[in-house]
Amino acid sequence: MADGRWGHCEHCRYFGSPAQTPLVNEEAPCQHPELSRFHLAVFGASGCNGFELRPGARADVEAPIYSPAPLDMP
Ligand code: SF4
Repeated sequence: MADGRWGHCEHCRYFGSPAQTPLVNEEAPCQHPELSRFHLAVFGASGCNGFELRPGARADVEAPIYSPAPLDMP
């Protein structure tokens, strides 16, 4: 499927939401050509490696979020 890049449904072109900017708690059908036969209902916060960026979404929307290393506490 696709390029194996994991991404969130809310940013995926196959998330069947009519919204221009779907939300994490929104439910919609997955319309991926290889998955649609399973009639999956997924949430914006869900995801898989069939992900492809939704048209109009920023290219860095799925970039990892920086998380600083935990501080050493005495
Ligand atoms: S399940 Fe995968 S292919 Fe379907 S909308 Fe979510 S990320 Fe996209």
